[in-house]
Amino acid sequence: MQVFQNPQELTNFIKKLKREGKSVGFVPTMGYLHNGHLSLVRCAKKENDTVVVSIFVNPTQFGKGEDFDRYPRDLDRDLRLLQKEGVDIVFAPQIEDMYPEGFSTFVEETKLSQRWEGEFRPGHFKGVCTIVLKLFNIVKPDKAYFGEKDFQQLKVIQKMVKDLNLDVEIVGCPIVREDDGLAMSSRNVYLSEEERKQATALYQSFQLAQKLVKEGLRDPRRLEEEIINFLKKFPLIKRIDYVTVVGEDTLEPAEEIKGKERILVAVRMPSARLIDNWKLEV
Ligand code: AMP
Repeated sequence: MQVFQNPQELTNFIKKLKREGKSVGFVPTMGYLHNGHLSLVRCAKKENDTVVVSIFVNPTQFGKGEDFDRYPRDLDRDLRLLQKEGVDIVFAPQIEDMYPEGFSTFVEETKLSQRWEGEFRPGHFKGVCTIVLKLFNIVKPDKAYFGEKDFQQLKVIQKMVKDLNLDVEIVGCPIVREDDGLAMSSRNVYLSEEERKQATALYQSFQLAQKLVKEGLRDPRRLEEEIINFLKKFPLIKRIDYVTVVGEDTLEPAEEIKGKERILVAVRMPSARLIDNWKLEV
């Protein structure tokens, strides 16, 4: 496994691989890896000759007062995990490598990124699109792998790729959960023991919602109400940022549940903000 810090050196190396006819699969991450990340790596391994994983906590996607400084980091552990998975290349740049002095160009998707995470984390998707486009230009992947855990992010990236004619295939991969249903996340380490227990409320609310839909409930607003009422029973859920049932392609509130809808949820606990989502089966 080769580790690169310098973008130009990695690009030169990738160009050589491509001249040899090798396909490149790419998994962008912020590190502190868990099985969710590793599921993307395994998928990329199956479908490409070479797998590149990036590890970079991207400052431009964090708002003021968010957790950029305390975001968990452990590069040595990450490298060991990726080596075990048989990853070929790790790209782990420093901030100055990605944002040298005088950096002044940003990329913004202006429709799908406006609501939900975009509303509660202003500037977040601008930072995400900018770093992802930069990474695509450096790594030149044939395919890039993103988790449905961040469903809105997956949709925003797919839209950027389409709108800007980027020559890369975006592959969405299913959410990996803990045994009790909590979606894996690097940020779960922030949770206290009691918060960790109550964090399963999100998954439980999806089970409840799925049951109601199976029983015939088709009104998205009523379903949202049921989910909110359920989440309110958990005292460590201090705030509900949003609970919404949206069309999978538009990310706009659905008018009726027909089988192409997703529940998107974001809540705040004392030590972490949690997001999760669920594809409704009818
Ligand atoms: P992050 O390091 O949090 O920026 O995540 C890097 C990639 O891993 C993103 O595409 C995430 O959507 C994906 N990811 C994070 N957690 C999970 C999970 N529990 N299941 C599947 N994919 C995930």
